[in-house]
Amino acid sequence: MDNQDFPLDPQSLVIHGDVDGDNDDTALAPAIYLASTYGARTSVEFAEMANQPRHSRYYARYGNPTQERCERLLARLENKESALLFSSGMGAMSTTLFASIRAGEHIVAQSTHYMGTAKLLTKVLPSMGVEVSLVDQRDSAAFIAATRENTRLIVVETPSNPTLTLTDLSAIAEFARSRGITTLADNTFASPINQRPHEFGIDLVLHSATKYLGGHSDLIAGVVCGSEEAVEKIWEYAITLGTNVSPFTAFLLLRGLRTLPMRVARQNENALAVAQFLEKHPAVARVHYPELDSHPQRELARRQMNHGGGVLSIELAGDAGHGFDAAKNFVAALKLAKHAVSLGGVETLVVHAASMWEASLNPAEMERAGISPALVRIAVGLENAQDLIRDITQALEDAETRA
Ligand SMILES: *Cc1c(COP(=O)(O)O)cnc(C)c1O
Repeated sequence: MDNQDFPLDPQSLVIHGDVDGDNDDTALAPAIYLASTYGARTSVEFAEMANQPRHSRYYARYGNPTQERCERLLARLENKESALLFSSGMGAMSTTLFASIRAGEHIVAQSTHYMGTAKLLTKVLPSMGVEVSLVDQRDSAAFIAATRENTRLIVVETPSNPTLTLTDLSAIAEFARSRGITTLADNTFASPINQRPHEFGIDLVLHSATKYLGGHSDLIAGVVCGSEEAVEKIWEYAITLGTNVSPFTAFLLLRGLRTLPMRVARQNENALAVAQFLEKHPAVARVHYPELDSHPQRELARRQMNHGGGVLSIELAGDAGHGFDAAKNFVAALKLAKHAVSLGGVETLVVHAASMWEASLNPAEMERAGISPALVRIAVGLENAQDLIRDITQALEDAETRA
C-alpha cells in the first residue's frame, strides 16, 4: 500500500501508513518497546548491530521499533523517504542545524522564526563560527541576494508566528537547488495536511510534533523528514547529542496522528469562521489569516497551502496604549479559550504576545518581530465554532467596557 500503484490519501495513510506490507504483527495497536538495550544471538550479530547504519534494535538512544513505526508514517505524510523523531521540536531543529553546517559556513534564514530557532541562528551558531544572514521572508529576491560563496543552508518557516506571514517555497527551493544549497522548512504551523514543502522542492521538512502532529497537548516531540541519506547524517548527530524521542512519546504521537487530517480539517474551518467574523467586528482593527482575501499574500497562500491552518492573529482597535490594554483585557475575559502558549491541540489557546515578551524584548525588537502591542494570537481548537465566536464576542465587549 501507498506505493506508485496504490498511493494513499493522507486520511488513509494515517490509519495504515505506519506498517510495512510484510508486517507480521497481528496486534492492531503498536507495542511500546521500553527496552533500553537489545541482545544479540551471536558475537557476529553483535558486531553487525554495532556497525550497521541507522537501526532500531541495538540501544534505545539509536531508536526503537515504536519510534520506527511512527517515523515511517511521518515520512509518508511529508512525501519524503525518511523521517527521524526527536525529544522536541527544538531537538529536531538544533540537531538538524548542527548536522548541516560547519564553522566558516553561512546560513540564510528569515528575520521571523520561532523564538528558539531565532536564538540558535543569532546566538548559538554565530558563537561557534557560523555566519547567519536574516532576511524579510516575503522578499524571495532578498534570500538570493544574501547568499554567498560559503552559503550551505537556507532556513524558512511558513506561515510564521505571529502574523501568519508566508515564504515562497518554490522560489526559494528552485534557487537553492541551482546553487547546491540545502533547504530546511519548519512546517509546524501548516501541518502536512495544509502544506507539503516537498512538492515545492524543499529538502528537509521539520515539525514541532508537540503541536498539530501530536494534537492533544500531552507530548513534546519533533521530527525532520528528508532523503534517506540526509536523515541518516542527521541521525549520526542525534545519537551523539542525545536528542532522541522516548518510546512512550512515539506511541502517543502515533495515536495522535490517526486523527490528524480530521482534526486539522476542523481547525481550518473553525479558524476561517473566527477570522471572517472578527474581520467585521468593530473592536478589531486587523485580522491576519492566510485564507482571508485581505491577507497581503493571498495568492501565494492559494499556490502553496490547501487551507489557512488553525492559527490566526488579530489586532484590537485603538492607539498603542489603548490597544495594549484592550488586548490584555480581552485575553483575560475569555471563558472557553485558555490563556497558554503552544498551538495545535484540541483546545483553543490565546496569547497576548506583547505582554508575554514585555520583559525580554524592547519596543523596537517587538516591532521587528511583528509584535504589535494590540496583537493577540488565537490557536483554534476543535470546539464548536459558534461557541468560540460567542466566547470571543463576550470577551471583546468586556474588554471594551473596561479599556
Ligand atoms: C513550538 C515550535 C517549535 C519548537 O518545538 P518544541 O516542540 O516546543 O521544542 C519550533 N517551531 C515552531 C514553528 C513551533 O511552533
